[in-house]
Amino acid sequence: MAQIIDGKRISQEIKDELREKVASLKAEGKEAALAVIQVGCDPASSVYVNNKKKACAYIGIESLSYELPEETTEAELLALIDKLNNDNAVNGILVQLPVPAHINEDKIIQAISPEKDVDGFHPENVGKLVIGEEGFVSCTPAGIIQLLKRSDIEISGKNCVVIGRSNIVGKPMALLMLRENATVTIAHSKTQNLKELCKNADILIVAIGKPQYITAEYVKEGAVVIDVGIHRDAANKLCGDVKYDEVFPVASAITPVPGGVGPMTIAMLMNNCVASMSR
Ligand code: NAP
Repeated sequence: MAQIIDGKRISQEIKDELREKVASLKAEGKEAALAVIQVGCDPASSVYVNNKKKACAYIGIESLSYELPEETTEAELLALIDKLNNDNAVNGILVQLPVPAHINEDKIIQAISPEKDVDGFHPENVGKLVIGEEGFVSCTPAGIIQLLKRSDIEISGKNCVVIGRSNIVGKPMALLMLRENATVTIAHSKTQNLKELCKNADILIVAIGKPQYITAEYVKEGAVVIDVGIHRDAANKLCGDVKYDEVFPVASAITPVPGGVGPMTIAMLMNNCVASMSR
């Protein structure tokens, strides 16, 4: 029977630790503020933004909210980022993605000062991850490392397959597992023999973006399975990229959806905010 990796509990544990750290940093006279920018009013983005603001309030960090209309131009958004980059009272800047199609996402990511890039998306921070220097790390993959470590799952020397090579999940995930001394394979849409490849994994991390795609046939007996996907099924119930009921009896440990990887993303965003506060 698989161990259920409880992201809700672990993320709460991290937020409580951060709350204490913020209180002691404040006692030293340090303050923190996270600027949260949302362009347009996509309902899913609004939920994410609200959850981030709530987490800030919980750990004791101020959040500054910038809700911009859908028709905001790229130049206007860049001007706001420039202003926040130069504001000493702001130590984290977050632009909720996706931005409307008329705005170039890469340009926005690159405009945020790397020192305030708490999402860890700026090329300078990505480069630091590649060469093993300290910098901000993308929150979802950083959260997965915490899930594994805090569940006492050994990473070093294990065969890890990461399905997905996106800039925000798959690639940084693979680099973090490498940093933890796993032997890492990255699979993507052109990968051949995905099933056989996955069957070799001691740790299988799934960020394929396809609801319930990974069935028991892909999983080695006793493997650890981390499901990054978030979708709604036909009955409007949340589900992941993994067919949970089928994989659960095969795996030694597994993350549920919801309550697995999801809550960790915000906890690690808060961790990055506190790191920037201490610097
Ligand atoms: P994405 O940008 O759509 O990337 C999906 C990746 O899967 C791509 O690299 C793609 O390969 C690969 N892929 C697609 N079909 C495949 C196949 N048949 N076989 C092997 N690989 C295949 O998605 P993402 O942003 O990384 O997110 C992945 C999932 O995680 C989504 O469900 C997303 O909603 C969820 N997510 C959750 C959180 C959280 O906080 N829990 C955070 C971020 C994302 P190519 O590169 O070749 O196209």
